[in-house]
Parts: sequence; structure tokens; C-alpha cells
Amino acid sequence: MKNVAVIGAGTMGNGIAHTFAQSGFKVQLIDVSEIALKKGIDTITKNLDRMVAKARITEAQKNETLGNITCFSNISEGVEYAGLVVEAATENIDLKLKIFKQLDEACPDDTILATNTSSISITQIAAVTSRPEMVIGMHFMNPVPIMKLVEIIRGYNTSDAVTKLIMDMSKKLGKTPVEVNDYPGFVANRILMPMLNESIETLYNGVAGIQEIDTVMKLGMAHPMGPLQLADFIGLDVCLSILNVMYDGFKNPKYAPCPLLVNMVRAGKLGIKSGEGFYDYSESRKAEKIAAQFSK
Ligand code: NAD
Repeated sequence: MKNVAVIGAGTMGNGIAHTFAQSGFKVQLIDVSEIALKKGIDTITKNLDRMVAKARITEAQKNETLGNITCFSNISEGVEYAGLVVEAATENIDLKLKIFKQLDEACPDDTILATNTSSISITQIAAVTSRPEMVIGMHFMNPVPIMKLVEIIRGYNTSDAVTKLIMDMSKKLGKTPVEVNDYPGFVANRILMPMLNESIETLYNGVAGIQEIDTVMKLGMAHPMGPLQLADFIGLDVCLSILNVMYDGFKNPKYAPCPLLVNMVRAGKLGIKSGEGFYDYSESRKAEKIAAQFSK
């Protein structure tokens, strides 16, 4: 398997494309937005430049990685030779079902279809395709080139052979895959999101300010990043979508998103990607500094 198509060039998609390309795969990076594709390639280039500056890779390796990535703005153009597709488009169930129907029609019969969804049911996504045994969750962590974990989520019908192949491939990417079953939020977000939501609720209830909440969790619990900063980093819209999926899936009020989170997303305050969330990232260097600090 040499060709991997990545759907979506946003926060996660560009990191996934970077990781596969650096491991020698030919990557077709596909996004409906030309701006997102340009931004995605700019981000990959900046991250590779940082690795060259730290002498982790050579200039030649950087150019080879960039040379392995080709951009497309239409799904049907970019997937015809793909052995694997990793979908990392916006966290929205209707959109993902539409994309998987398109992929099922456009990809060769033996292409494995993976999704980087944070919480949406793999089984539900697989059900709109004619190959549910070849649909799997490949949940990379942010920032993808740095974080070791990949949560591998088996849908109800995912085959043993496909699971093994994707586990082995994740190891080849230098990652540590962990196999989990398909329930809302899987493992990572089932545990992380209630903590982030509770931090927002703590702020909403006026118990403490933003800096104070983050400082307690950083210094008191040895977290590398405070929960409100982490929510900004993930994207408040992504956090809200994940909480809604868990709330709907379990029908348990403990997953109900905090009204402050709902309001911030409605107001377009999405965190780093929109320039403002709990913190102000209006000078673009600030966001870069935080990302760089996290990647140390
Ligand atoms: P994002 O908003 O940064 O990027 C999403 C991209 O998808 C955008 O560039 C958008 O133009 C593109 N897109 C939308 N519709 C498309 C289509 N039909 N075809 C191709 N591209 C399309 O989102 P993100 O944070 O990168 O999240 C992507 C996925 O990864 C989501 O499922 C999310 O839950 C998951 N995820 C996110 C994080 C995180 O920290 N942000 C971590 C793990 C997993």
C-alpha cells in the first residue's frame, strides 16, 4: 500500500498527511476549500522547517516529504489509486455519511476506508458503504506529527484482517496503536471531554478565572496544558460536537455541553483556529508559540 488519500486539510488532516508523507507514502490531500489546502501545506512546511532547525530531519528529507503530497479539491479525483483513505473532515455526522458514500463509489473495491472522527459511530459510518468490514476508526491525536497514540476503533463489522493491517501500519508510522470498541467518544474523548466540559462549567459558575483554572490543572495535576487552553487547541466547535455525540449516545446528562461552550461556538469563538477562544490568539505568532511549546 503506497497511496494514501487524506480527506480534509484542516488541523488534523494536514498533520495526518505530514505523517504519512514523512514515512514515504504518496499522499493525496483533498479538501473542498482551496484556502484550507494552502493553509495545510503552509503548516506542514512550517512544521518540517522546525524539524530541520532542530536537526531532526535534513533539508532533503523535508523536500522529499513535501514532494510526496499532492493536493486535490475533489474527492473523485484524488482517491482512484488509494489503498487507504483517512477521512479527517469536519466533525459532522451528515457530512461524514455523505463523504463515505462518495468514497465507496469512487475508491477501488479493496481500498480501506478509515475515519479520524473523535466520537461519531464507526458502525453508523460503515453502514452507508458496501464494505463495512473495511471501515475502521483511525483516531490520531493533535498535533499528529508529535503525538504517539492512535486509537484504532473497530466498528461492529470491521474485520480482524483490516484491524491488524491498520494496527501494523500505525506502528510503521512510528505510532503506538491501541485497539478499542465502537461506543460514543471511544476511550480518549469519553474521559477527556467531561474534564474539559467541567473546566468550562467551573469558569461559567464563577469559581475561578481562565488562568487560575489552567494553572491549577498544570501545576497541580502535572498536565502539560491547562484544560481551557487544550479546548482552544482542539477547537471549541470540535469539543461541542463530541459532547453532543456522547450526550445523544448515552442519554446521560453528565455529557451535556456547558451553555458557555455552546454560546462561544455560536459566537464564532472557536479557539486557536478562529483567533479567539478562552485566550486571544489575534497575533498569529501567539498561537504558533503555544503549539511550539506543546511540541517540545
Ligand atoms: P478542521 O475544522 O480544522 O478541518 C476540517 C476540514 O475539512 C476543513 O479544512 C474543511 O474545509 C474540510 N472539509 C469539509 N467538508 C469537506 C468535504 N466534503 N471534503 C473534503 N474536505 C472537507 O477540523 P479538525 O479539527 O481537523 O477535525 C477533523 C476531524 O478530526 C474531525 O472528525 C475531528 O473530530 C477529528 N479530530 C480532531 C482533533 C482536534 O484536536 N482538532 C483531534 C482528533 C480528531
